[in-house]
Amino acid sequence: MQLPRIVENSPFARVARAKLGATNVAMVLGNSIHLSGVSRAQFLQDPFWVAHEMEHIRQFQQYGRLGFLIRYLRDWMRHGYYNIPFEVEARNAAELNAHLYAQGKPLPGPAERHPTPKVKS
Ligand SMILES: [Zn+2]
Repeated sequence: MQLPRIVENSPFARVARAKLGATNVAMVLGNSIHLSGVSRAQFLQDPFWVAHEMEHIRQFQQYGRLGFLIRYLRDWMRHGYYNIPFEVEARNAAELNAHLYAQGKPLPGPAERHPTPKVKS
């Protein structure tokens, strides 16, 4: 499975991490996955997380950078982070596609998986 560019210690992901109040964050910008608070190796160990971000890569390709970002921010304000349609799709895609990124290993259980940030807005 071809992975996109992965950027560790990304300043963009650091801003998102602060906004979400999360320990670690992965976020997609265009065709790259930006990480903060998590190394590339740690990120790749969670195939659910990788599959989630790969769905955002697909969404970026479908809507374009500006189209994605405008919809994402609009829907965040309308629905709250957890209910942004792009996030709902990405959570569903994680369950469906995690096996593609498991690298031959068993899928991690709930305790080993990266939790979805729980934010109010
Ligand atoms: Zn997401």
